[in-house]
Amino acid sequence: ENAIEIRGLEKTYAAGKGSPAKPALRGVDLEIPTGSVFGLLGPNGAGKSTLINILAGLVVKTAGQVTIWGFDQDVNPRQSRASIGVMPQELNLDPFFSPRAALEVQAGLYGVPKSQRRSDEILALVGLEDKAEAYARTLSGGMRRRLLLAKALVHNPHVLVLDEPTAGVDIELRQMLWTNVRRLNEQGMTVILTTHYLEEAEEMCDEIAIINAGQVVARDSTANLLDRL
Ligand code: ADP
Ligand code: ADP
Repeated sequence: ENAIEIRGLEKTYAAGKGSPAKPALRGVDLEIPTGSVFGLLGPNGAGKSTLINILAGLVVKTAGQVTIWGFDQDVNPRQSRASIGVMPQELNLDPFFSPRAALEVQAGLYGVPKSQRRSDEILALVGLEDKAEAYARTLSGGMRRRLLLAKALVHNPHVLVLDEPTAGVDIELRQMLWTNVRRLNEQGMTVILTTHYLEEAEEMCDEIAIINAGQVVARDSTANLLDRL
């Protein structure tokens, strides 16, 4: 059973001033098994963020088919969006919202009924229970990252996507994020992450796809793949 199925996915961003239209994804086929921790590796500009942003529904694909938890993105956009939660790379948070308020707003966006909201549980999971009422602008970088993870979880998605979750964070926070992700995976969540760190892929991922210049150039179990590098 696959949590995600991608067929013939292509993306070409519109040409900008002085920059011609250039394909960012050039025919990606990828199946991500339910229950796995799946790594997307590749150099800067390879197309990892584009792929993730298409899964998240933030970027519109040029061609191809994306199925999330059995829901074709074009046929069932709402259900496919509800099946996935994304922790973005940018630390974009409203400076005047407390973590608790940010989670409530996010839950509202996803239409989670008040009776099914679990803000306290999610804040505790990421270790922000003591900061529940603090202004986001007073949170450290590490706390912001944990809040972004919490926001990705409010609608209890089947698939969690993390874009460079530990880029530039210290070892303590990295370990904590890894522990959180492992725990979520043990509870049945399928996890996809992009990373620059081989160590992170080795530590976290069951399987890896290597993306280069908009294409999947290798895909194997982490052990097999790292053996070949
Ligand atoms: P990363 O490699 O860490 O994903 P990038 O530098 O590729 O970071 O992209 C950072 C942000 O800038 C992303 O949101 C991406 O969509 C955007 N971006 C990247 N390249 C361009 C571009 N040529 N024009 C406009 N936005 C871009
Ligand atoms: P990665 O995440 O692997 O670094 P990206 O998906 O960010 O790769 O970028 C893939 C290619 O698409 C790069 O050439 C990048 O400059 C380009 N790109 C990314 N986002 C945009 C955007 N919003 N507008 C135009 N080009 C973009």
